[in-house]
Amino acid sequence: MKIAVVSVGQTPTEIIERLSRELPKIFPDTTSQVIGEVLSLPEHALDKKRRQYNSTLILNELQRFATHHLNFNRILGVTNVDIFASGLSYVFGEAYLAGKSGLISLWRLRPQFYGEEPDTGALQLRTQKEAIHEIGHTLGLQHCNKNYCVMHFSNSIFDVDKKQKLFCDQCYLNASIAISNMG
Ligand SMILES: [Zn+2]
Ligand SMILES: [Zn+2]
Repeated sequence: MKIAVVSVGQTPTEIIERLSRELPKIFPDTTSQVIGEVLSLPEHALDKKRRQYNSTLILNELQRFATHHLNFNRILGVTNVDIFASGLSYVFGEAYLAGKSGLISLWRLRPQFYGEEPDTGALQLRTQKEAIHEIGHTLGLQHCNKNYCVMHFSNSIFDVDKKQKLFCDQCYLNASIAISNMG
């Protein structure tokens, strides 16, 4: 699988570079690359009252971007802004199930959001977990009931911290099959 990591709006370079280096360690037969071009945040995705961006509308932009970059199997967007999805007060990320693109937000992964000291290591680990989770969805994986598995649903930052950045055996098998079927 060839993954492209792309920034949607400005994000810290060291976070996405590190993320891109870590992804091939998790997924079999996978390479990852950061795309230099920064996608702009679609203005129509901003909900001014909520002061949040609609993640589904950003995801649609990513999907459009993906169709112009056929040399990649998956596009992962990373944004700094707070995002929400229909019916949810916020999300850490969103992806098309068995689609080509996923999106994660760093906004609620930062310790500072919870009134804690900045911690780049913690931010990087959380970013990796959420990115792996969303790419897992693009491989057709659904939520896993094992709370240590990276495909476990994260309701809060506590759930993010509790799970590993690894798949359980069953999810890893499913991810491997999906990747090998990409040909
Ligand atoms: Zn999920
Ligand atoms: Zn699992």
